[in-house]
Amino acid sequence: AELYGIRNWGAGYFDVSAEGDVVVYPFGRSHKLNVSVPDIIRGMKERGLDMPVLLRIENILESRISLLHKSFRNAIESLGYQGGYRGVFPIKVNQQQQVIEKIATYGSMYHHGLEVGSKAELIAAISQAQDKEACIVCNGYKDEEFIDLGLHAVRMGFKCFFVLEMPRELELILRRSQQMGVRPLIGTRVKLASKAGGHWSDSGGELSTFGLTTAQIMDVVDRLQKEDMLDCFRLLHYHLGSQVPNIRDIRSAVMEATRVYAGLVSEGAAMGYLDLGGGLAVDYDGSHTNFVSSRNYTQDEYCTDIVEAVMSILDETGVPHPHIITESGRATVAYYSMLLFNILDVSGAEAFPDNLPDTLDESEPEMIRNLFEAFRGLTLRNLQECYNDALYYRDEIRRNFLDGRVTLRQRTLGERIFWALMRRVAEEKDKLRHVPKELAEIDRVLADVYYGNFSVFQSLPDSWAIEQLFPVMPVHRLREFPDRPAILSDITCDSDGRIDRFIDPQGVRNTIDLHSLNGEEYYLGVFLVGAYQETLGDLHNLLGDTNVVSIRVEEDGSIEYRRELLGDSVADVLSSVEYDPRRIMEQLRDTAEQAVREGRITPSERYGILQAYENGLRGYTYFER
Ligand code: PLP
Repeated sequence: AELYGIRNWGAGYFDVSAEGDVVVYPFGRSHKLNVSVPDIIRGMKERGLDMPVLLRIENILESRISLLHKSFRNAIESLGYQGGYRGVFPIKVNQQQQVIEKIATYGSMYHHGLEVGSKAELIAAISQAQDKEACIVCNGYKDEEFIDLGLHAVRMGFKCFFVLEMPRELELILRRSQQMGVRPLIGTRVKLASKAGGHWSDSGGELSTFGLTTAQIMDVVDRLQKEDMLDCFRLLHYHLGSQVPNIRDIRSAVMEATRVYAGLVSEGAAMGYLDLGGGLAVDYDGSHTNFVSSRNYTQDEYCTDIVEAVMSILDETGVPHPHIITESGRATVAYYSMLLFNILDVSGAEAFPDNLPDTLDESEPEMIRNLFEAFRGLTLRNLQECYNDALYYRDEIRRNFLDGRVTLRQRTLGERIFWALMRRVAEEKDKLRHVPKELAEIDRVLADVYYGNFSVFQSLPDSWAIEQLFPVMPVHRLREFPDRPAILSDITCDSDGRIDRFIDPQGVRNTIDLHSLNGEEYYLGVFLVGAYQETLGDLHNLLGDTNVVSIRVEEDGSIEYRRELLGDSVADVLSSVEYDPRRIMEQLRDTAEQAVREGRITPSERYGILQAYENGLRGYTYFER
């Protein structure tokens, strides 16, 4: 189990049992109770749910929300901070209704609110929100309708803030709030000079696309003063970028923003809320470093550093402590979902088997005999030389094949010798103290390809788009040694539909060690996929949404299958790209009738064919056994 680093990235929610199964600790590791993932899969199968499945564990979402609030509460109490903490969940990170409903209901005990960036998200938020103490933060560019919807929310008693993303929005807010007779809650997003490292750092910094410069914010102050509305200026917001791996960046940004906040208070703005945006990272690779897929701080450190920084700067200037808001998305929902899929097939080295003759016939072409000599004479000392020779001879053999001087059978012999030599190089190179990059690549070339029943584009879009690392591992058979270096391919016929970067304590690996197939289903899990992946996924090759199952584990260990959402049917995905399934059937009926007229099929065969197509339209878009 250590191979896959589960204890490093599992955050206490995942481990491996003595039986060799991945187990989930729904209440965290401090609570002994755990449930096995293969048992959950069995339960799903009994309920007729096919792979792939996105499994959500509701207890983990609750635990994440509670932990965030507890970490802030501890920091606030231990440092004697006078303000409170108000979390908001950014809907864009996972917009699914079940998720937002769960966050709104469970979060209400902590006044956990929602962040929205569009009219659709605002309507979704207001429909799910239950707690009037919780904040609703409206980011994003706002038109008149967006502003009206927000003002109506204020009228209904919601703490709904408009965050100015550009100066022009202010006039619209002033006009509509005066016309509707509502005092708005206004905030602004500030462009800080501070920047963060990581994938999404462009959200921060003075040159970022979003937010107002301090000069533009001063104009807002002047304008509000003129309208006698400085009491409506309530919030300062910034967002440094998502997945900020380095605590130093978080600290310097909060210090800069707090100075701006203090300046606004001294200008007479009412304020009261400081909103730090997202950025709290997830340690996807479990390395606890400032790599892009990790973070070099704990959640407790994050909270303490923020509270301490805000407090020390404000105490210097005698400004009252505001409520601190963070818009943590990733850290709230990532752990909550895992993608489970079965392996359909394996291909790899067996395409060129190892059984070579002891000697080669003199009649074989010279290039092939030279290649064979290189293979026979390979030692640790001449490894690189043999490798170079092998590439040269293989290319020559291919060229001679094109010219007709090497037969198909001879070329095949050449390829077999070449791969046998590569396998020897792969074995021997591990004995070298320093493995040249070129030779290190061989493992990936020689790896088996495990074909998984899923689509990278639909279920793990960030793995493809920005090469984000997610923990991947088998969810059973973990008492057996996994002896097959492999890469994963999905079932889209796209060469990008693969995973060939895996987490490793020493950095990134190009292969993952998997078990040989033994005739039984082999299940893999991709973990920590609750954030961003569902929303960004697309219909590449018309592979649709997967089945989704939400479970809840009770204190007695029983598993409640709370919700099942069937994934898209073939008809669903076709409809989403403008086909009408009814029209498709009409066209197929005509096509089949034509085949009857041409004498290709009988009328009763036509009936069977049409039934097969109708069933196909109703079926799941993934591979069904
Ligand atoms: N707030 C804003 C304005 C964002 O743009 C984002 C995402 O990039 C977030 C919050 C969520 O960030 P994270 O998922 O890192 O918590």
